Parts: sequence; C-alpha cells; structure tokens
Amino acid sequence: MSYGRPREMHDAVCADCKQKCQVPFKPDPSKPVYCRECWAKRRPPRRDRY
Ligand SMILES: [Zn+2]
Repeated sequence: MSYGRPREMHDAVCADCKQKCQVPFKPDPSKPVYCRECWAKRRPPRRDRY
C-alpha cells in the first residue's frame, strides 16, 4: 500500500440525487454516500439558538 496520494477520490453514486460523484473516502456499501451538494443539504450549518 502506498499513501502517496492523500487526496485519492473514489467513485460513488449519491444516495440522494443518484448522480455519480466522487468522495474523498472509500464508499461504505452499508452506508449511503452523498455528493457534495446533498451532503451540504443534509447537514446544514448549525445555528446557535438565541
Ligand atoms: Zn447528491
């Protein structure tokens, strides 16, 4: 194994929009993979309640 490429991208299919995308981690078949947009959509920035 070589760790010469820290930014290795893996092909994946977004579980939300079903589009092909690439993720910087190895897709886990037991977990849904989301593209960057859907990831951001599902994890909106937290806002502190005031
Ligand atoms: Zn998506």
